[in-house]
Amino acid sequence: MTTLAMFSGGIDSTAMLVKLLGESSDELRVHHIRMDNREMRGQAEGRAVEAIVAYCRGHYRPFRYSESGLEFRALEAIPIDYLSIAFVACQVAIDTPRCTRIAIGSLVADTDIANRSARQRRVFDEMYACYRARKLGEPEVEWSYPVYEIPKAKLAAALPADLLELTWSCRTPVDGVTPCLRCKACRVRQDLRIPAATAQNLAS
Ligand SMILES: [Zn+2]
Repeated sequence: MTTLAMFSGGIDSTAMLVKLLGESSDELRVHHIRMDNREMRGQAEGRAVEAIVAYCRGHYRPFRYSESGLEFRALEAIPIDYLSIAFVACQVAIDTPRCTRIAIGSLVADTDIANRSARQRRVFDEMYACYRARKLGEPEVEWSYPVYEIPKAKLAAALPADLLELTWSCRTPVDGVTPCLRCKACRVRQDLRIPAATAQNLAS
């Protein structure tokens, strides 16, 4: 059995990754989606992800890692993340032998999360059924939310400080690399008194 962990480089999915690496011996495939849209968060997020994957491989245990990109920079509209995640998770699950679980780092406190998660699974299920019609994939795929009940402050506090500093939250970075300190994700980070990730510490 293999678990596919969808990984953004933020606090929640990093905490989920550490939990999966530390508390289970499941075979893991970790996948990051480079989300390129007019908000231009892709570059900074990508640097964070690279640093966090290296850290986790060095401090916990080995795991398979891959990434893919969705590029919508020419569009005014911002694609909905949970739909992009459902679409990509389906492709990667099919690409992963014996993948029977998808792990997502969403939290009970996330906006409208029950409805968003249900819609996300619905998109995945419809796509997955198309592959099953070709006898690909596994008969059952379970969705798992390993950090769902844990408050973000507690997740952050449980991460090693040097790992926490590598996580990226900002959705609308200035010049693509500096946290804006104004978007919702930046404000949550400030409220929890978590230092903003910076291009400097990602580069070091
Ligand atoms: Zn921001």
